[in-house]
Amino acid sequence: MIDYRSDTVTRPTPAMLEAMMRAPIGDDVFGEDPSINQLEAMSASLFGMESAVFCPSGTMTNQIAIKCHTQPGDEVICDRLSHIYQYEGGGIAFNSGASVRLLEGNRGRLTADQVRESINPDDVHKPASTLVSLENTANRGGGSCYDFADIQSIKEVCLQNNLRLHLDGARLFNALVAKNETCRQYGEVFDSISICLSKGLGTPVGSVLIGNRPFIKKARRIRKVFGGGMRQAGILAAAGIYALEHHVSRLAEDHRHAQEILAAIRTKDFTGDILPVETNIIIFEVRGRFTAPELAARCKEAGIFVMAISPTQIRMVVHLDISPAAVAQTIAFLNSI
Ligand SMILES: *Cc1c(COP(=O)(O)O)cnc(C)c1O
Repeated sequence: MIDYRSDTVTRPTPAMLEAMMRAPIGDDVFGEDPSINQLEAMSASLFGMESAVFCPSGTMTNQIAIKCHTQPGDEVICDRLSHIYQYEGGGIAFNSGASVRLLEGNRGRLTADQVRESINPDDVHKPASTLVSLENTANRGGGSCYDFADIQSIKEVCLQNNLRLHLDGARLFNALVAKNETCRQYGEVFDSISICLSKGLGTPVGSVLIGNRPFIKKARRIRKVFGGGMRQAGILAAAGIYALEHHVSRLAEDHRHAQEILAAIRTKDFTGDILPVETNIIIFEVRGRFTAPELAARCKEAGIFVMAISPTQIRMVVHLDISPAAVAQTIAFLNSI
C-alpha cells in the first residue's frame, strides 16, 4: 500500500525507534523529563526564541496560542481555508470564545493590505481585533509558501495596530526547505510558532509551541487545563529530537517526488486545473472519465491511496514513507489508466 492521503501516516524509522528506546524519561508535568526539556530547549534555540512547550497535537498548540493571545469576544484574523478555522472542531469559539474574521487569500496566503483592511476600529460595537494567524505552508492552498517579505509587511501592520502574530507552522519546514529560509527569520517576526513533528518530519506524535518566556509560562497552564500535560512522554520527544536532526533537509526529496508525480498527472486527459505544486502537496481537479471519488477508488484497487477532498478534487501528499520505488510504481499506474 502506497499512502498519499496525508503526511501524518508515516511510521517511525528503525533509527528513530532506536532513539525513542534510549530516551531518558521522567514526569514532564513535574518538569522532570530530560528528553522533553531537551526538545523544548532545542526548538526554542532553533528559532532564536526564549521558550517552548511540547504538546500532543498541532490542534492543541494552535488552540493554546489562540487562548493565550485573546480574551473572549476578541477577533482572530485568518484565511478562510485556515486549519485553525476549518479543521479544529470550532475550537476558536469553544476554547477562547473569540470571533473570527475570515479573509479570502491567495491559496491560503494573506496580504498586509487585506489584514490592514480587516482590523476593526476601536469602537464598542466591534469585536477587538487582537490576533492574526498565518499558515505556512498553507495546507488547503496545496502546500503554498509565503514570500517572507509579505510576512514582514503583515508584521508591520500588526505592530502598527498592536496585534499579535501567530504562525501555524505544521509544515513550516517544507516551506523553509522550498524557499531556502531559516527558522531564525521566523522567530524574529512571530509572537508564537506552532510546528508539527508528526507531519513531514515523520514522528508518531507531537507538536511544539514556541514563544517568549511569559507566553510559554501561560501556555503551560493552558496545556494542563486542556488535558495535554503528559508524563513520561520523553519517548515521543526523543523521536522529535531525532527528526529535527535527521529529517529536515530530506524534505527536498519529497518535493522532488511531488514534481515527478505532477509531471505524470499533467499528461492525463482526466486532469483539470492543478494547484501550483511548491512543496509536498498535490491538489488537482478531475473531470471527464472519472469523478474524484471514482479516481480515488481506482487508485485504491492498485494499492495507491489518495484523498478525494471534494467531488472534483484529489489531494496527494508525499512524505518520508514514499520511496523512490513507490513513486515509480505510482507513475507507472497513472500512465496505465
Ligand atoms: C495537521 C495540521 C495541524 C495540526 O493537526 P493535528 O492533527 O492536531 O496535529 C495544524 N495545521 C495544519 C495546517 C495542519 O495541516
